[in-house]
Amino acid sequence: MNLSKQVSRPSSLRLSGCCFASAVIVLMNIPAPAAEGPLQLHLRFRNATPRGETTTSEKTVAWEPNKTALIICDMWDDHWCKSAARRVVEMAGPLNEVVKQARGRGVFIIHAPSSVTAFYKDTPQRRRAQAAPFAKTPVALATVERWGTAWCWTDPKHEAVLPIDDSDMGCSCEGTKCPINPPWTRQIATIELAPQDALTDNGQETWNLLRERGITNVILCGVHLNMCVLGRPFAIRQQVYLGMNVALMRDMTDTMYNPERPPGVDHFTGTDLVIAHVERHWCPSFTSTDITGKPAFKFREDRR
Ligand SMILES: [Zn+2]
Repeated sequence: MNLSKQVSRPSSLRLSGCCFASAVIVLMNIPAPAAEGPLQLHLRFRNATPRGETTTSEKTVAWEPNKTALIICDMWDDHWCKSAARRVVEMAGPLNEVVKQARGRGVFIIHAPSSVTAFYKDTPQRRRAQAAPFAKTPVALATVERWGTAWCWTDPKHEAVLPIDDSDMGCSCEGTKCPINPPWTRQIATIELAPQDALTDNGQETWNLLRERGITNVILCGVHLNMCVLGRPFAIRQQVYLGMNVALMRDMTDTMYNPERPPGVDHFTGTDLVIAHVERHWCPSFTSTDITGKPAFKFREDRR
């Protein structure tokens, strides 16, 4: 049987299997992703028009799973901000499902829980990252230090100022603001480590792992988009500088944004503004629907 023909059928033809999931997919008009072959990602780009407005465009790309890594940024077991911690708990289960499906397709999974990799000392995933042969990077890795790791700061040559003010660190709790006292000790246990995964928060180790496998495509997800998902040494800015094809899984992220700060929008609109910033200045985005066939993830507190 020619599998490539089979998987390219429109989803409406799949009802013959009488599968409830297929019926849901058709009802919600979400194209079912193929279970094999390349990942079909609907990448959303944002471009500036000559009149200074921005427009979005979409392009479907086929990424070979064995040339693709999915990096999970800072999905810690706890957070100094109670509402941020609550949202990580809520997102972790759905994200783990996405990770499982991506892994099952052959995507290389890198867990990147910054500053708590010692928790994983002597695990096969941590050792794999440390043992990957050194590979020289095409450009120098960031060396500026922030929060104990190398950091790629906002780059005025490459981007506008962030559309949200996170200078207060972005506690989104109503009423009393949370004291900034980092409590994280590991990655949240909901996200499973499989034997073939790797675990690192180090830019050079990440590069070594990618080069060892000939990986050219990098998907970023996790938290928080306005800080670590952009700035960490394994994250979006650094991967773009290194020449990778980078994409943000935009429903599997969150921001540190306090709605009482400019521009004074609700927390989730603030996140959408940062996603738009990333799409305009750094890399396109897609939703987990392209991997799971399920509706994109949405936080319960997002009542827009
Ligand atoms: Zn808080």
